[in-house]
Amino acid sequence: MRSSPKYEFAPLYSSFHRRYMIELRSAGEFKHSLPSVMPVTYKSESDPDYQCLEQYLKAGAFGSLPDAWIHQAQHDLMALQETLQKLVKNTPWLPKGIQEELSTFRAIELPTKYDSPLNFRLLNNLIVRIKAAAARIGLDVESFPHYSSIPTRQVNACAVNLPGASRPFLLFDSQLFLFCHLFAKAFSRCLPVTEAGEMVSLSTDIEKVREHVQSTPDVLERLIDVLNAYVTTDSPSNAKQYHLEGDYVDIVTIIRDGMELFVVAHEFGHVYAGHLSQLLAGTRLHTLPLESGTESHRQEYEADLIGLLLTLHAMNDSGYDAGLSYIGIDLFFASLDMAAQYAHLIAGGDDETFKSPSSDSHPSNQERRNFLNSMIEHIVSPIEQAESARTLSSHYKVIASYLWSEVRRQTHHFTGLALKAAEAQ
Ligand SMILES: [Zn+2]
Repeated sequence: MRSSPKYEFAPLYSSFHRRYMIELRSAGEFKHSLPSVMPVTYKSESDPDYQCLEQYLKAGAFGSLPDAWIHQAQHDLMALQETLQKLVKNTPWLPKGIQEELSTFRAIELPTKYDSPLNFRLLNNLIVRIKAAAARIGLDVESFPHYSSIPTRQVNACAVNLPGASRPFLLFDSQLFLFCHLFAKAFSRCLPVTEAGEMVSLSTDIEKVREHVQSTPDVLERLIDVLNAYVTTDSPSNAKQYHLEGDYVDIVTIIRDGMELFVVAHEFGHVYAGHLSQLLAGTRLHTLPLESGTESHRQEYEADLIGLLLTLHAMNDSGYDAGLSYIGIDLFFASLDMAAQYAHLIAGGDDETFKSPSSDSHPSNQERRNFLNSMIEHIVSPIEQAESARTLSSHYKVIASYLWSEVRRQTHHFTGLALKAAEAQ
C-alpha cells in the first residue's frame, strides 16, 4: 500500500486559511456546437518531472483537489471556447487585446491534468514577464523552475522540491489570482474619477475619496462583498459580479498586475536565493519554510526583496514607473490584512485586538510591508522615483485605512440589524 508522502506546507503568506474558487463555473452548461479545435496536450505525458508532479497532486500531497472537476470541464476546448466567446460578449469593457486573445483560444499544452487552461495561460503570461525581467538584470534563467497552476484551494503559492523531479516547481493556487483581480477592481472603484475620457485622472486625495465613497454607496458594498465572500465562503467568486466602468480599466490593470507579478516573483525569489537547493539531496517533499523562526523570516524577506526588484522591472517593461508599479505590491499585503481584519471583526473581535497574522514561518503582512517600504530607496533610482513610490504608497495606506473604517462601520451596522431582527423573532 502506498502511503501519502510527507510534506511541509508552505504558504505564500500567513493567512487564516481561506481559499478561493474559480469564477468560471459554467463551462459544462454549453452545447458543443462549435467547429472542432485542436486538443489539449499534457507535459505530464512526456516529461518525467511533470509526471512526478501529477502523481503528487493525485496522491493529495498538496491537499484534496476540490476544484479539479471545474478545471476538467474547461479541458473540453469546444465548451471552453463557447464560454469565452460569451464572456467577451458580456464584458465589452475588456481591452481589445484581451478580447482577441480570449476569442481565439485554441490548442494548449498544460503541465498536468489538474491545470486549468485559463489559469495556466494567466500564470504563463506572468512567468514570461518575470523571466524577461530576471534575464534583463542578469539572473540565470536557463534553469528557471517548472511551474503549474493547481486547483487545491489549500496551497496559495509555494516553491517546492519534489523528490524524483530534476527541477524545483513553483505552484500557484489559481484562486489567489482571482482574489487579486477582484480586490484590485473593488479597491480601484473607491477612487474618484476627476477627469474622464482620453486622459483619465483618479484622485488619491483622502477628502475626495471620502466624498466619493459616501456619495456612491455601491463602491463600498462591492469591497465588503469580496472580503465577505473570501472570508465566509472561501470563494471570492461568490461575490456578486458587476460591470467595471471604462475609466477604471487602467488602474485595475496596474494594481492587479503588481499584485500578481509579485506573487510569482516572490516564489521565484526563493528558488533563486537558493532556499530550496540546500535541500536538493533530501528524500522528503520539501517546501518552504525550511526552518521556523528567525531564519525562515529572513528567507521570506529575501524572497520579498527579489520579488520587489523583479516586479518593478517587469512593470517598467510595460511602461510603468516605480510609483505605479509599487502600488500593487503594497496593496497585496494590505488586502490580506484587510481580509484577516474582516475575519477578526465578524468573529466578534475589534481593531484593538487585531494583529496582522504572523507565524513561525512568516513575518506578519505589516512587517513585510514595512520592510519593502524601507528597501525602496535602496533599489530604485533616481531618488525622485523612490520618493514618488513611497509618497504614493503612503496615500494608498491612508485610503486603505479609511476604507477599512467604513467597512467596519457598515459591517457593524448590518450585524446590528441582523441581531435586532433575530431578537425580534
Ligand atoms: Zn515565501
